[in-house]
Amino acid sequence: MKSVSARVVIVGAGPSGLRAATELAPKLPGEVLVLDRESVAGGVPRHCDHPGYGIRDLGRFLTGPGYAQRLVHTAVNAGARIQTNAMVTGWADESTLEVTTPQGRRRVRGEAIILATGARERPRSARWVPGDRAAGVFTTAELQQQVHLERLPVGSRAVVVGAELVSWSAAMTLRQAGVRTVAMVTHYPKPDAYAVFSGPGRVMFATSVLTSSRVTRVVGRGRVSGVEVLNEQTGARRLIECDTVVFTGDWIPDHELARAAGIELDEKTLGPRVDSTLRTMREGVFAAGNVVHPVDTADIAALDGAHVAASVLSYLGGDTRSAAGAPIVATGPIRWVAPSLLRPGAAAPSRGKLLMWVDEYRALPRLVATQDGQVIGSAKLAWPASPGRVFRAPWSVLAKADPSGGEVRLSLG
Ligand SMILES: Cc1cc2nc3c(=O)[nH]c(=O)nc-3n(C[C@H](O)[C@H](O)[C@H](O)COP(=O)(O)OP(=O)(O)OC[C@H]3O[C@@H](n4cnc5c(N)ncnc54)[C@H](O)[C@@H]3O)c2cc1C
Repeated sequence: MKSVSARVVIVGAGPSGLRAATELAPKLPGEVLVLDRESVAGGVPRHCDHPGYGIRDLGRFLTGPGYAQRLVHTAVNAGARIQTNAMVTGWADESTLEVTTPQGRRRVRGEAIILATGARERPRSARWVPGDRAAGVFTTAELQQQVHLERLPVGSRAVVVGAELVSWSAAMTLRQAGVRTVAMVTHYPKPDAYAVFSGPGRVMFATSVLTSSRVTRVVGRGRVSGVEVLNEQTGARRLIECDTVVFTGDWIPDHELARAAGIELDEKTLGPRVDSTLRTMREGVFAAGNVVHPVDTADIAALDGAHVAASVLSYLGGDTRSAAGAPIVATGPIRWVAPSLLRPGAAAPSRGKLLMWVDEYRALPRLVATQDGQVIGSAKLAWPASPGRVFRAPWSVLAKADPSGGEVRLSLG
């Protein structure tokens, strides 16, 4: 089997991997190699053909495909090599990846390895939605690939499961494909996207958002003909006629490589546990983007890429400090927090922010940090914590935390 080496190997040519490559390539002698299983680099934005990309990282308002192309060109111009159709399937040893390409299998060794493999939506089967096995059921990613990459028809009436940002992206894609979104269904008591989306969105797409509700059955012989929806407050069930169902949100990191390596996962995000500099618990292996926080926007993933690049440079420069530190643990309505390791001497995370996901809406939340039974910090935030989108808070709330102490617990007061 052919073996190659690079200074840094990055798995995933999405925003986080490409931005990391852009930062690293001009600063390192030796190759910065980005591997992606797809035939075209760019990650998820490639098939999100609507505006909303590049705001925080590029100061622009681009479409997904435009943003993806720009990131690819910048990385290549910076000197990185991007190899597509290269699926990383496992590890030959702690610093060598096994890669399958159309030309055969390869071993690729990196002095440092960055996992930038993103996250995916759980499909219907993983959400245990019973009923008929009819055609016409998608996740948002599947829908967008069918519409924007393969240019295939979808249907005419859709129900979207979820009411978060990505759900509106699905509604937009459906509209572009000539499909009417007849209802959006969320189990939360209010729509989870920003009001600026869910208010005008309802008018624009002529759809209704059914809150406190769940899709409990898919109906249809051959093709979907409807979904059964349960209102959890009243107990009422109704059948909504549709030929398309899109399951949106409910993210899981693409963490298989971390798992295969035996790298510790965070039990809440299910992504690799990282410290504030995006080091995993395995020396020389880093992680960035949505594989760490499922999910935030692409600009945040790209800024993670810049952040992890600084960490890799410091590692290759000799800073190989161990992985020990205090775990940062989400409690109560906080579902997960990233980063989730407070390592001694580690710099603040990207943008000086803790990223969290909550399961309950709080208008003006107070974030409280405790360690060994003592309150060590708190912050009253001027923005809401809402399900369905990342809740960001200043890292300074942990300024008094002791990395050699017990676990640091975060709660909403
Ligand atoms: C429908 C939808 C709409 C969105 N709309 C917006 C928006 O308007 N604005 C915005 O800012 N963000 C938006 N986002 C979020 C944004 O797309 C993501 O935050 C961003 O793409 C994450 O970047 P990433 O680098 O972490 O991962 P990804 O973009 O997911 O890239 C990961 C890459 O890793 C590759 N990969 C995974 N495993 C392997 C492997 N084993 N071997 C080789 N390659 C591998 C994949 O092929 C992929 O190319 C949207 C997301 C979705 C799903």
